[in-house]
Amino acid sequence: MKEKGLLIVLSGPSGVGKGTVRQAIFSRPDAKFEYSISMTTRKPREGEIDGVDYFFRSREEFEQLIKEGKLLEYAEYVGNYYGTPLDYVNETLATGKDVFLEIEVQGAKQVREKVPDGLFIFLMPPNLNELESRIVGRGTESVELIRNRMEAAKREIELMSLYDYIVENDQVDLAVERINAIVLAEHCRSERA
Ligand code: 5GP
Repeated sequence: MKEKGLLIVLSGPSGVGKGTVRQAIFSRPDAKFEYSISMTTRKPREGEIDGVDYFFRSREEFEQLIKEGKLLEYAEYVGNYYGTPLDYVNETLATGKDVFLEIEVQGAKQVREKVPDGLFIFLMPPNLNELESRIVGRGTESVELIRNRMEAAKREIELMSLYDYIVENDQVDLAVERINAIVLAEHCRSERA
């Protein structure tokens, strides 16, 4: 059997409900993964706690971490840095536990290069496939708006191909079931044994 844990990466387009799905996974008493708390330069939102939701850091501190090579990946997202602490991930995987990252797509791309045997899951809104027909069929959008929306959807679809699994988030509980099932199946794959 393998000794090293599995690195699980969950991403998806903004607004798809990644945070909600992640919270649902970790609120279960039988949650099997270790959550990697990210570093960010974003200011805490009300109720967020340093060291629980994120490690909140200044830009200078974050840039120092980048320089020192302390991040597995990092990205700038809407004016703030977000990144995954490298030591925590390596040390936890080395103990045989699975580590769960909930990160945006630019960061996921970097992890894909560094950890090719990670498990990459893309959370998809339920109606992406029907997006074009719905937008066009509605007949209320300007041609430009339809084009912009479809461009955004195409970019998301292109990025989806980087992932091993696509999980529809039609219902949070179902999405959690699917993710747990995928991880279980991944552990049973012959080349990982
Ligand atoms: P929020 O500010 O809403 O908490 O997060 C904004 C975005 O940053 C979300 O898409 C979230 O998944 C992503 N994110 C959170 N932590 C990390 C990280 O460590 N690395 C990267 N690349 N993205 C992250």
